[in-house]
Amino acid sequence: MAERIVREIDRGTLVYDPEADKVGEYRGKAGPHAMLRPVGGGREWEADPDLIRPATAEERLSATVKAANARSLAGRCGPEDVSRPPVPFPDCATCTELAVSRAVARAQADGTTETDANVLLRRHQRRDHEETEPAPARPRLFRYVGYVIVQDPSAEPEYEARCVSGDESDCGAASGAYPDPRPVEEWQRRHTQETQHLRYRRTFADYAVLERL
Ligand SMILES: [Zn+2]
Ligand SMILES: [Zn+2]
Repeated sequence: MAERIVREIDRGTLVYDPEADKVGEYRGKAGPHAMLRPVGGGREWEADPDLIRPATAEERLSATVKAANARSLAGRCGPEDVSRPPVPFPDCATCTELAVSRAVARAQADGTTETDANVLLRRHQRRDHEETEPAPARPRLFRYVGYVIVQDPSAEPEYEARCVSGDESDCGAASGAYPDPRPVEEWQRRHTQETQHLRYRRTFADYAVLERL
C-alpha cells in the first residue's frame, strides 16, 4: 500500500505531511518512512508514506513564504538579478509551477536551481506563449501576478499579552508591546504569581511586504 503511493511521488516534489502539518521536499524512502526536507533547508524528518500527498499550489506558496521569511529574518539576501527574470503569464499552470520553484530556490539561496527555473521558464514561454501571444505587441497588463509575502525586516515585530482571567469580566492587565516574546512571558509568569490568573490572550503583529515571484 505504502509502496504504491510513494512510487507515484517524484523525488524533489513538495508534499504535505498532515502529521507534522508541514510542507516538505520529498527526498525518497528510508525503511518504512518517507523522508521530507523542510523548504528552505534544514533537518529532514520522517513521514508516514500513506499520509503524505503532493502539496497544493497554495501550500507550496505558503511554504515558500515561510522560507523567505526565515531567510529575511536571518538577514541573508541573495544577489540582485542582473538579467531580467522572465515574468510568469497569468493563468498559465506551467508558468506558475516554474515561478514557484524559482521562488523556492531563491528562498533557499540556491542560485543554480533559480537559474535553471529561469531557463525553463524562458524556453516554455518561447515555445508556448510567443506564437499565440507575441510579446512585443502585447500591452504589459497583468490581471494576476504571483507574489510572495515576506516580513519587512526594517520594522520590528510586536508581542503582547493581556490577561483574560476572571469570572465575570476579564482582568485586563496587559504586558505592553515588546519586539521579543521573552519579556512578555516573564510578565505573564509574574502576573500569575501575583494573582493566580492563568489565561492570557497573546497577540503578535508584524509588517509584511509583497515581492513579485
Ligand atoms: Zn506559461
Ligand atoms: Zn489578571
